[in-house]
Amino acid sequence: MSRHPGPSGPVRPRWTTLFGALIATAVILGSSAAVMTAAKPGPGGSAAARGAVPPPVQALGEQVSAATRLVEPAAPSKKAYALGLVNNFLKQYDKAGFAKATALGSAAKYKAALNAVTLKIDSRLKKVAVFDPVANTVTLSFDPAKVKKSERLSRGETIWHELTHKIEATQGDSSVLVNKLWDERNTEYMTHVADVALPILTILEKKAGAKATDQELLDYWNRFNDALTAGAALPETAKYPTDPDLQAKWFGFTVDPRAISRVYASGKSGLGAAATIRLREAFRARLDPRMLNASWTGTRIPEALDYRPQGFNFVLAFEADGKGTLTFDWWAVGSYGMPAATYIDGVLTMHYYRESVCGEQTGEEAAWICTTDEWTVTGTAVEADNGRIVMNGQFTHELWSNPAVFGPGHGTEIDSGTWSASRN
Ligand SMILES: [Zn+2]
Repeated sequence: MSRHPGPSGPVRPRWTTLFGALIATAVILGSSAAVMTAAKPGPGGSAAARGAVPPPVQALGEQVSAATRLVEPAAPSKKAYALGLVNNFLKQYDKAGFAKATALGSAAKYKAALNAVTLKIDSRLKKVAVFDPVANTVTLSFDPAKVKKSERLSRGETIWHELTHKIEATQGDSSVLVNKLWDERNTEYMTHVADVALPILTILEKKAGAKATDQELLDYWNRFNDALTAGAALPETAKYPTDPDLQAKWFGFTVDPRAISRVYASGKSGLGAAATIRLREAFRARLDPRMLNASWTGTRIPEALDYRPQGFNFVLAFEADGKGTLTFDWWAVGSYGMPAATYIDGVLTMHYYRESVCGEQTGEEAAWICTTDEWTVTGTAVEADNGRIVMNGQFTHELWSNPAVFGPGHGTEIDSGTWSASRN
């Protein structure tokens, strides 16, 4: 499925193993601040380049000796090539319909991260690339100016990976190499999404263009969701679940299946006509408010009220234009409709105000007429794991009963609560 080595491929960079022992030692020997200062390259080039202090990789004995190596900071133009590779990686899905709702990262954030590190090129590096949070360097085993076209995507991903660690370090998130599972949780998840999950959607969109059936599209959609689930069950993410809000804020990474299905259902995927229409039909069948006949049972109105309904039941019914009614069955009276409910992009809003005009009525009739009430109902449709549409929401109901009818002690009642409904 992936067009370049995935999470288990040979190019996956690993920086934790390389420096773990060194940093663990350094932290024991002195304050981490002192380590940071000592390891930072001076204005005339890195300490390693001057040969005064071996760089951490050499200190670990994993590389050839310092005497035979000279690792210079890369010329400024190398950063421009590196940035080009990162941007190429970030933009790889730009022509896909789902790109309207997803991002592998913010170009501005990754540019800032690249500008904030020292970039080195070392063809003898045994890893493809490493980020050293102490020396604040990204070292590449390859020259970003000389990357074959067939390797541009994987090289870009490698640099993106290391810069992701730089962003984490800037946020104080890094364990400073003592907890590999923690440090790799974001990179592992995002790599899995980029390399395994999103390619499934590119196939889904192609199939839609070839007029695949709802069921065929649903199969790919389920596979995509399964891939996301698998991404959350990697060794790193199973132990330390990732936070989508944090990934959006720090890296600009957003891949939310609900947002993607809304793009497909909206008919605004930006794909060719055939695919756009097919996706719209298929995903609307799953999200369409016209299909959203839902019923639910909410909290009972407090029993202090004399007429004491035994619960209430809502039925949602919508027209093609997204406007609709919320039918409210209650008590023994029957039902009345609540007009002006709207359902737009999966969000239901309804406000209803009925003012009492109380006359000579008695009994049930009085209960109905001699009260003034106001309802506010909101709900958001989401897709549950099993593919069903579930609407979760809140309501408030304020009711003013007329003491002349109901007797003293009856005044304003306020009910509020949450509700949930699934499409029938
Ligand atoms: Zn890593």
